[in-house]
Amino acid sequence: MTVQPNLGKGVKDARANPARISVVAPAYNESENLPVLFERVREALEGIDVPFQLLVVENGSTDNSIDVLRDMHERDPRLNYIRLSRNFGHQGALTAGMAVAEGDALISMDADLQHPPEVLPEMIAKWREGYDVVIAVANTNATQSLARRIINRIYYSVITGISGLDLRGGLSDFRLMDGSAALVMKSLPERSRYLRGLARWIGFSQTSISYEIAERFRGESKFSLGQLFRFGVDGALAFSILPLRLFLVLGFFVAGSSLLYACYLVMSKLLSDHFGIGENAVSGFTTLAAGIFFLSGTILMGIGILGEYIGRIYDETKARPSYIVWESSLKDPDPESGSDPREAR
Ligand code: UDP
Ligand code: MG
Repeated sequence: MTVQPNLGKGVKDARANPARISVVAPAYNESENLPVLFERVREALEGIDVPFQLLVVENGSTDNSIDVLRDMHERDPRLNYIRLSRNFGHQGALTAGMAVAEGDALISMDADLQHPPEVLPEMIAKWREGYDVVIAVANTNATQSLARRIINRIYYSVITGISGLDLRGGLSDFRLMDGSAALVMKSLPERSRYLRGLARWIGFSQTSISYEIAERFRGESKFSLGQLFRFGVDGALAFSILPLRLFLVLGFFVAGSSLLYACYLVMSKLLSDHFGIGENAVSGFTTLAAGIFFLSGTILMGIGILGEYIGRIYDETKARPSYIVWESSLKDPDPESGSDPREAR
């Protein structure tokens, strides 16, 4: 891949006077939040005199979100939307939004107002200082339970250890990317995308700011436990084959120590049978049973991890699009999505 030429501190102009900034927000059944989201984004960005568009990715909602969006677009063309043919998940919607959003910078945020739009000027200020990726890290102390915070911390430390990417602060997809950095990310060929990891992986100059995460304005969390689990496994496996390698190491260790143990058993058998030294070396059932259970469990885990990787290869080789655009308020939604986008109705 070619390196984008205009990254970094050299392009002060577009940063000082951006032609437009795109704010991308995936929304699944968020109709009550959308007008407030737009108002607050508008206030925050008009306050610092930055032209913008809010691009809502309507993710196959079952409520009246699409009517709300058509209406909002009619009243203010800075509100744009693309409607996906079904819910392609949070990451699918963000991928879709990033693919069509244009602008000198691209901001991704949730539509439920947990990511306060009032933080945007601070992110933009960091971008203007010359950073290409500005990650907003939630200060979760106020809103999350201790257990959730501990689980989060352990989880992200583990993925940081596995992937080698510093994801300890990457608890959300609330971030700003310079237009060129976003272009680099869009052009990555993989279909299943763990965006908060990829945003770190692409490099360039990165910084983070912290913000107070708010309560959801309306509605409930749209993530099921199963989705969260799948997302968690994605993060652990998307950037490294270390889990597989650990099983290789474990295999060597078990095989090596078993060999030593087998030598010991043969020796003590020979010694006791032929020279009467020591006792006959028949060990108990417990050791045998524990050994078999432990090893079968470990082998099953190994096969499971292998299966996760193979499943991902399977998904990638099918090469289906990560989203399908159904309708859009933009003129040319996304020529590359492989879909058949229709004109806005
Ligand atoms: N979302 C989505 N599809 C999903 C789940 C979530 O488009 O299957 C959107 C949702 O509308 C919201 C954002 O992703 O704008 C974050 O979701 P949510 O607030 O439910 O997650 P939480 O904050 O509880 O982690
Ligand atoms: Mg939320």
